[in-house]
Order: sequence, then C-alpha cells, then structure tokens
Amino acid sequence: MEKVIIIRYSEIHLKGKNRGYFERVFTVNLEKALKGLRHEIRRQSGRYLVENFSEEDSESIIRRISKVFGVHSYSVALKVESDLDEIFKAAREVAFESGTFKVETHRADKTFKLNSLEISSEIGGRLLASNKNLKVDVHDPQFIVNIDVRENGTTLVFNQFIKGAGGMPVGTSGKGLLLLSGGIDSPVAGQMIAKRGMNVECLHFHSYPYTNLQARDKVIELAKVLAQYTCGTKLYIISVTKIQEDIHKSCNGEYMVTLLRRFMMRIAERIALKVGSQCIITGESLGQVASQTIEGMTSSNSVIKQLPVLRPLCGFDKDEIIERSREMGAFDISIQPYEDCCTVFLPKHPVIKPTLSAVEEEEAKLDVNSLVEEALKTLEILTIQ
Ligand code: ATP
Ligand code: MG
Repeated sequence: MEKVIIIRYSEIHLKGKNRGYFERVFTVNLEKALKGLRHEIRRQSGRYLVENFSEEDSESIIRRISKVFGVHSYSVALKVESDLDEIFKAAREVAFESGTFKVETHRADKTFKLNSLEISSEIGGRLLASNKNLKVDVHDPQFIVNIDVRENGTTLVFNQFIKGAGGMPVGTSGKGLLLLSGGIDSPVAGQMIAKRGMNVECLHFHSYPYTNLQARDKVIELAKVLAQYTCGTKLYIISVTKIQEDIHKSCNGEYMVTLLRRFMMRIAERIALKVGSQCIITGESLGQVASQTIEGMTSSNSVIKQLPVLRPLCGFDKDEIIERSREMGAFDISIQPYEDCCTVFLPKHPVIKPTLSAVEEEEAKLDVNSLVEEALKTLEILTIQ
C-alpha cells in the first residue's frame, strides 16, 4: 500500500488546442514546487499522480501543492493492486473510526470482475462487518470512501477532495512586474495576479542609508513567500536615495510622496520593458492613504507610457486585504516594523488631491531624466526560489 497524491486541474482552461501548452506549464510548475523532495509525477488521464515520496516529506509535499495555481483539488490516496482484499484493506485505512459513510466507486478498468456499484456494495458491506461503529448513509454521509479502479491494474482509495489554490498555471498569462514594498498590500496584489496565471517578478525601492538593511531582508522574506505561489521569482532592487534627496532639496515637501511615486513608475516601466514584463502591478487600494486617491493615481499613472498598471486591490478594504495576507502566509512578516522609502522625508501634510499641473510644476525643478538613469545604475537582481 503506497501513499500517493492525486492532483486535479481546472478543466475550463484546458480546452481546445491550448491544452497541451497549459499541461506542460502546469507540469513544470509542479516540478518546481516539489524541487528538492524525492518524488515522481505522472500524468494519468486528465490528472496527475505524485508518487514515490517518503512519508516524512508528505506534509511538505502537500503544503507545496496547496500553493500551486491551476490545482482544482487534490486527494491524499492509498494506491493498491486492483484486488478486492487489497482495496478493502485500503478502505479500512481511510475510513473514520465511527460515523456514517458511503462508498463511491469509479471504474476505468472495464475488465475488473465487478462493476462500480458491485464494488461499492462489496466494500461497504465488508466495512460494516468489520466495525460496528459505522453506518451507511447514502444521502448525507460523514465521510465517503472513494475507490478509483485504474486501467493499469492499480486502485486509488481516498476519503477527501481538498480544494486546491484554483486559478491558472503561472506562466500562462504572461509576465508582470510587481512593486513590492515591505507592507501588507503589495504581496497580496502579486499573489492575486499570479493566480490568474501571470508570472510575477518584483521590484523594490529603498533609500539606504535612510532605510536600513532589515527593511531589505524583510522584502526578501516577502518575495520568498510570494515565490511559493509564483514558482520562484526575481527581486529587482533599486535605490531612490538620490531622488528623494533632490526632491527634499528642491521641491515643496508636500509633494514628496507624489513625486517619488512618479519616479517609481518611470523606473518600473523601464525595468519592465527591459525584462519583458507586460504590465506593472501595485498594491494600491483606492482612498487607503493620501497618495492613493484617484488624483494621486492619475498623477503617478500619467508618467507610464506603454504598459498597463494593474491594481488588483483597488476595491478592497484593509481587513479584506489582511485576511488574504494571513491566508498566503505573508502577514507576520509584513507587520514587522520597518522604514519604507515612502516614510523618509515624509511631510506632515502630504498633498491629498494633487492636480497634474501642480505636480508637473514641482517636478520641473528636478532633472528627471538623469535621476532616472542614475537610479537604474543601482539595480541589483536577486533570484528567489
Ligand atoms: P503596502 O502595504 O503594499 O506597502 P501601502 O498601503 O503601504 O502598501 P503605499 O506605501 O502608499 O501603500 O504604497 C502603495 C503601493 O506602492 C504599494 O502597494 C507598492 O505596490 C508600491 N510601493 C510603495 N513603496 C514601495 C517600495 N519601497 N518599493 C516598491 N514598491 C513600493
Ligand atoms: Mg507601504
């Protein structure tokens, strides 16, 4: 009797001539997710079987699979020879100690001597006989013994369909560049877009030495959390120290964040185009803070020339975002105190509804192009597994 994992993917996205492509990407993603743990993945009529792993790795394998987008559901199953006695032994293993149950059988192997109804009733009968604390309830059972008689002489027995991460395989919807801060919102934004099949890479801005190295480590930790969903990622790191110093020196302090955002967007677009990203992703949520009013977004958006900016959290309340952050495992890292570059030289009263003309007037006091070029020279690239 061997423990295996059955993985089912969302069929909807696998129709027509794209099917082979989706399946290939999905397989590669599963392999990446399970890298470093002994296992074998086999495709079996519209689903995958993970086999040959050691018992002590099984929890890690399950945890990793639960984060792979495109997985519709999965089951931990026992694989046995297609033989009634063996099937019964496995059924006894997956059955609860007590309670109501039913047996559901799917028989792909039409040469098996009993049909599916007969298998269910035979195994159900044996279970009842072996444990007097079990009762059959075909309408509302407390658990179901699922029996899947495969064509290759093996049978899978399991008691649960566990909901997978859903979405589409990462890599089937192109590539995007996420502006990743150390806060709560941006990792969630990245995860949401990855769920739609986009390969997400990250860009972080720091103002070292005004921001410290712990802030950087924190962002690396957040990128690692995100990387579990994106099958690895890259983290691009850029210094905006000089830009902030120049804004501080030359411009009205109320415009610090507004102007800085425009620089971030310009730099993000340059890097995105260079690395083949097709959009920019931010964790902005409408009205959440002074810089995220529609006027603030208009101001930062207007410097982007070629790419769309995706803001998946725009319509979310903070508590909804926090819930997702907890679910994805980022929250405890995000709430560690840190200095973001946006909090350096922060004015007491940032401008809340900047008009584009006023912003451009302030910005005219700076040498925008050379500041962007200088910042691009500070680029560091980390590969995150
Ligand atoms: P977050 O929780 O994601 O930090 P926030 O509520 O703190 O968001 P802001 O600080 O206004 O909001 O940032 C809005 C968005 O701008 C962030 O979600 C992120 O996408 C981007 N951003 C902010 N600071 C940085 C940074 N230092 N590096 C990269 N992107 C950033
Ligand atoms: Mg922030």
